[in-house]
Amino acid sequence: MKRALALFLALLMTLLTGACAEADDGGEGIVHVLDEEQTDSFVQETGMIASDPFRPDSLERIILPPDDRKVIKKPKQYPYSAIAYMEAKGECGCEWCCTGFMVTEKTLLTAAHCMMCKEHEKWAKKVTFYFGYKSRKNYLYRYKSKWTAWVGSFPSRNEDDWAIVKLNKKVGKKTGWFGIRACSDDDLMGKSFCIAGFGGEDKLRYAWGTVTGVWEKQLGYNIDTLPGSSGSPIFDSNDYAIGINTSHTDSANFGQRLRSEIFQKMEQNGLL
Ligand SMILES: [Zn+2]
Repeated sequence: MKRALALFLALLMTLLTGACAEADDGGEGIVHVLDEEQTDSFVQETGMIASDPFRPDSLERIILPPDDRKVIKKPKQYPYSAIAYMEAKGECGCEWCCTGFMVTEKTLLTAAHCMMCKEHEKWAKKVTFYFGYKSRKNYLYRYKSKWTAWVGSFPSRNEDDWAIVKLNKKVGKKTGWFGIRACSDDDLMGKSFCIAGFGGEDKLRYAWGTVTGVWEKQLGYNIDTLPGSSGSPIFDSNDYAIGINTSHTDSANFGQRLRSEIFQKMEQNGLL
């Protein structure tokens, strides 16, 4: 059974895209790989809230109704303002785009494979983060200063495909942020969540759907996603993120489950 699951998860495809606009020079940063010592003694603490959502007074709140995947016409409204369109350039010179989301005033979460070129196994070197993004000239906030990232695995493994990115400015004060919590299996299975992220055409889209599979570190769901939406938040109607969108098969989509292990890494690096 365990082997069958491992084989199945190995077939997951990451949601990378090559269809993003040509990147300008982003902010430079360094990626660290976190140790894997805790993996064997992994304990899933559930019901834990690591941060509460924050909405700046300057931003209107809107929550979109359950519907088919739709373009978000006003990405500057909270909580969509807290979602970043990321343009990255690797040490190898390759460019790609991804999605990330703020979870504290200086911390963004995304997928580990968003911080590396998988083809050449090289790190992202420069990244620009656009919040409330409609176009290169129309956005709420752009961050292109220095950053530091920590990833769960390198090269990215599906079960540890998460990254914590520390920004040097209090970006969340302008964009707002999602709360983050670790849910029990019962809080996830069969429940409805939203994913909002940028596909290859750099428009912010959202879709609601249901969690159909729960594992120790991953979630499966029937929420519709697009290539390029790697790193998107999986969140509830109270603005708490419970996962990170990372990968797909022909029949379902998959993401990282937010869990105490990730929150501990944030805490150890002074981000909670
Ligand atoms: Zn490359």
